[in-house]
Amino acid sequence: MRDGKQYINSLKDGRTVYIDGKKVSDVTSHPAFRGIVDTIAGMYDFSANPGNGMIRETEWGTKGNKIYMIPTSLEELIQRHEAIEKLAAQTAGFVGRGPDHVGGFLAGFAGNKSKFADGARHFERNVVDFYRKVVDQDLYVTYAIVPPQTDKTKAAHEKSNRFSQVGVSSENSRGIVVKGAQMLATGGAVSDYVFVSCIHPLKPGDEDYAISFAVPSNAKGLKFHCRRSYATGKPSTFDYPLSTRFDESDAFLVFDDVFIPWEDVFVFRNVALMHDQFFETPAHVLGNNQAQIRLLVKLKFILGIARKVAGMNGSDRIPGVIEKLGEMASLVSIIEGMTLSSEYRGIMRPEGVFSPNPRFLYGAIALQSELYPRVLHLLRDISGAGVLQLPSSFEDLLNPETSGDLSRYIVSPNHTSEERIKLFKLAWDIVGSEFAGRHYQYEMFYAGAPFIAKSYAFWNYGFEEIEDFVEDFMSKYDFRSSSKQAEGKAGKKGN
Ligand SMILES: Cc1cc2nc3c(=O)[nH]c(=O)nc-3n(C[C@H](O)[C@H](O)[C@H](O)COP(=O)(O)OP(=O)(O)OC[C@H]3O[C@@H](n4cnc5c(N)ncnc54)[C@H](O)[C@@H]3O)c2cc1C
Repeated sequence: MRDGKQYINSLKDGRTVYIDGKKVSDVTSHPAFRGIVDTIAGMYDFSANPGNGMIRETEWGTKGNKIYMIPTSLEELIQRHEAIEKLAAQTAGFVGRGPDHVGGFLAGFAGNKSKFADGARHFERNVVDFYRKVVDQDLYVTYAIVPPQTDKTKAAHEKSNRFSQVGVSSENSRGIVVKGAQMLATGGAVSDYVFVSCIHPLKPGDEDYAISFAVPSNAKGLKFHCRRSYATGKPSTFDYPLSTRFDESDAFLVFDDVFIPWEDVFVFRNVALMHDQFFETPAHVLGNNQAQIRLLVKLKFILGIARKVAGMNGSDRIPGVIEKLGEMASLVSIIEGMTLSSEYRGIMRPEGVFSPNPRFLYGAIALQSELYPRVLHLLRDISGAGVLQLPSSFEDLLNPETSGDLSRYIVSPNHTSEERIKLFKLAWDIVGSEFAGRHYQYEMFYAGAPFIAKSYAFWNYGFEEIEDFVEDFMSKYDFRSSSKQAEGKAGKKGN
């Protein structure tokens, strides 16, 4: 298992990352990325420490992180859950795309490798080899599986710019050359590899774009165009505890004729397999089970903050505030219940992978675009102006001219001024900072736009069962029995 230092050193590899109009020479020391690099390094250190119970022996005799497991039983699914939960707790669930997210997708691909078989190209071997490489080298893989927003009225091959979305520009006996752009690689600038594909539906004619591959983050011709950083310009971690450490960055990727060797290609010019790789393997359910476990850790953390904020203001005995905290607790419990039901009512798939039950998994995901904003709204509501009745930075606590006023007036019973300021600054980084706004967008969109998430719930509910239930109920009466009933009643009246 590699440790944090090894991860940091591996990032000094000449990758092409742009931010604020400049090329970044070293992501490990740049202020936009330093915080998240240290955080991911901390996750590696946590996992590498045998005392934390994250390590297991793989089926092929090496040591690997439990987050990458392909579960074959309920017990293994639970072991995987526990490992993911422990890792998410390192960041209170505010790092969405740590090594465990795409790790889950890769485990799912390898878990049903036969889906990738494509004649002599042996893509089924590629998905297994790449998965094992990720486990054995403990690699951090992120992904970009969505085409850039351009014009939804046209299919990929109908657009005037042939490579507005990444596609194959040529192929030879050694591999393929890809060109174009793809969005949106969260964590991409600080990862080892990016998995590139397209989860949005493609159409016949889109074969050039029907590709999946893994690309090293320092590949020649691959460029990461990052959005602005929410970590830079912040006075301290005390002031912005989340922005300064957990801003993963999101990157728009551009491929300038990037060469991909065949062994890193998983799908090639196969429109049907673009869908099936995610949904006819356990990839989408395993990846999204990780996402739900992480979300649950985050929601519990937010609920804890809301409870403490109310406690500090002495408002936690007011019936109206109890009602709000109760609603938050209920929303968090829904996600917990759904996550656990998806696992304890898990399904043994034909290929032998024990995977989360899609009814409960997608049922929770479909609620997320309303549930997360509601939880944030309630925290905002409970906090009032407390999140703004704050000094501009820790410097005000150090300056004797200001610190006296702050410690005298920004107070709560049984808490020091510093404790109060610390808690409310944390609450602001959840509801009000730019980092907070990005997380709002993230929870709404990471699993697809809300209408897509709801369609997953529709397709995976298993309507046959309840339609049969309704049929059975309705089969027990008909108009003949109704007319007999009517006759009976009439007879009684006549008597
Ligand atoms: C913070 C953040 C991080 C992300 N990280 C990643 C990542 O790491 N890797 C990655 O691959 N992707 C990532 N994404 C992208 C994410 O996968 C997409 O946002 C998602 O798939 C939705 O695509 P879109 O943004 O193009 O939205 P659209 O599909 O354009 O949807 C936007 C809105 O348009 C409307 N709309 C569009 N089409 C329809 C339709 N057919 N029917 C009804 N309404 C419609 C809906 O109102 C919808 O909510 C990230 C997104 C965010 C916000």
